Amino acid sequence: MSELESDACLFCKIVKRQIPGKIAFEDDRALAFYDINPKAPVHILIVPKQHIASLSDMKEEDRDMIGHLHYLAATLAKEQQIVEPGFRTVINTGLGAGQTVFHLHLHLLGGRPFTWPPG
Ligand code: 5GP
Ligand code: ZN
Repeated sequence: MSELESDACLFCKIVKRQIPGKIAFEDDRALAFYDINPKAPVHILIVPKQHIASLSDMKEEDRDMIGHLHYLAATLAKEQQIVEPGFRTVINTGLGAGQTVFHLHLHLLGGRPFTWPPG
């Protein structure tokens, strides 16, 4: 699955507006949209516009962009008023970690208590 080409990729299609998504934020490098099956009152997915299958496929030149995804998560957390009492950011990498869509995405979750360790 990690070999998915971008023209077959669900999140590339949302980036290209070929399928609908409820957009929270967009800039030249990234798109943030609401998860279709939210696991918390606030559940936003933040994705690079370029197709990278997973965190384990990142290249050295992707370092700044992945930092940017986290910057956007912090910014959106403030906008969504979930900084207090706390929010969670998650990247699932690989089938065993629960990754189901093989286009890198950062989950931003908030608005409810979270336990640790995660399941
Ligand atoms: P993963 O399990 O790969 O870490 O996360 C994939 C996420 O994408 C899941 O939370 C799932 O609910 C979400 N998702 C799957 N298909 C769609 C879709 O078509 N639109 C949106 N907005 N989210 C989706
Ligand atoms: Zn993609």
